[in-house]
Amino acid sequence: MDLIGPDHSLYDVLRKPALPLYDDIRPAAIARCSSSSDVIEALAYARSANLPVTPRGGGHCFAARSSTTGLMLDLSPLSTISVEPTAALATIGAGARLASVYRGLHEYGLTIPAGCGPTVGIAGLTLGGGLGLLGRRYGLTCDRLVAATVVLADGNVLTCDAERESDLFWALRGAGGGQFGVVTSLVFNAVPSPTATRFKLTWPRSRAAEVISAWQSWAPDAPDELTASLTVNANHVQVFGATLTAFDPGPLATLAPEIDLLAGLTWPELKASLSEGGPDNRIIHSKSEFFRDPLPPDAITQLLNAGCELNFTPMGGVYNRVPVDATAFAHRTERFLLEHAGPDRNAVRRSWSIAHAYASGAVYPNFPDPELTDAHTSYHGPNFPRLRDIKAKYDPSNVFHFPQSLGGPR
Ligand SMILES: Cc1cc2nc3c(=O)[nH]c(=O)nc-3n(C[C@H](O)[C@H](O)[C@H](O)COP(=O)(O)OP(=O)(O)OC[C@H]3O[C@@H](n4cnc5c(N)ncnc54)[C@H](O)[C@@H]3O)c2cc1C
Repeated sequence: MDLIGPDHSLYDVLRKPALPLYDDIRPAAIARCSSSSDVIEALAYARSANLPVTPRGGGHCFAARSSTTGLMLDLSPLSTISVEPTAALATIGAGARLASVYRGLHEYGLTIPAGCGPTVGIAGLTLGGGLGLLGRRYGLTCDRLVAATVVLADGNVLTCDAERESDLFWALRGAGGGQFGVVTSLVFNAVPSPTATRFKLTWPRSRAAEVISAWQSWAPDAPDELTASLTVNANHVQVFGATLTAFDPGPLATLAPEIDLLAGLTWPELKASLSEGGPDNRIIHSKSEFFRDPLPPDAITQLLNAGCELNFTPMGGVYNRVPVDATAFAHRTERFLLEHAGPDRNAVRRSWSIAHAYASGAVYPNFPDPELTDAHTSYHGPNFPRLRDIKAKYDPSNVFHFPQSLGGPR
């Protein structure tokens, strides 16, 4: 393990989270971990120095949960990807980022359903669920997880799967980020890396109300092979995504969009074509919720007047065919996720309040919101009581904690 303090030249690079909003939360030290033994050593050091400790994978947490003023465990050296092609099993180090996961698996003709941000960490994404362009076809990223290696706070190393430590394995799939222990590797049941069509349908912002209306009664019920997200910003409204079959824009065709199609893309090419533009260095606030019913026209008009960027993600498909209690991820009956984002925190709050009146109250654990009044129910629904018991079993001293964690703050 390399222990890096504030006087080390690497310190500033390593401590920077993906969201500039949290640049000022500075760790006392950073432990660079390249093995489970390094993690054990780092946890022992934190204990002896009486420092709070938190793991960081890709550093993209919206609520700064991988930032600390104590000891940050930087897992990025743990980024090996190995594949057993005949069994379609991929073992991925907890520090790997999505772009390298897609590239690494594609060499074997494989992939996993996972998110879009190329630098998002595979660990944080999987442990909180994992929504992406293949999710309506193959489920959440965590639905493809078949085993994980975890270092507990006391230094014990466990392998968990459906048979071994099955409670922990259940909890990791949707509620595992920074809660029970430090995951060092993840094993996935991979799927064939498809050839696909990337589509973008664009309208001027003045058409946003009718596009949202049509989208919300179409995208969540579209064929599993098609994922169409919707974004509204100050200039335009755009429906974009991927399809594994011939592209059919459904009722959106009648709204005469400007259409941009790229057919015959390999999966890494398709992912890259949707993440142009590089890192976003603006300070952005965001809040989000799930919805089981369409938003009524009045609410859509009010939302558009609130002035935030609106990002709609469709659920349905295979996401919703997994029972609520099969994994810790409880949100299996939602139609879509709506995120409100922008530089003005109060505008984001106003926009969220307008939509909140129609929301299910469920919140995606990977889009955490420190302002929730009943966070455990919002994140975990009926799975919360079981999760609380599993937390007490695997992290009885509440070493892994943050304001809304299962063991509460310390
Ligand atoms: C630009 C951007 C794009 C995104 N795109 C998507 C998307 O397409 N789909 C989607 O579903 N989500 C997306 N997200 C949300 C993303 O899933 C979460 O932010 C996720 O938590 C990021 O994981 P990370 O490893 O990068 O973050 P981190 O901040 O490193 O970790 C997140 C949480 O997991 C914990 N953690 C990290 N590694 C481990 C480990 N090895 N063991 C135990 N706990 C660990 C951390 O302590 C923290 O609590 C996006 C976020 C951003 C900022």
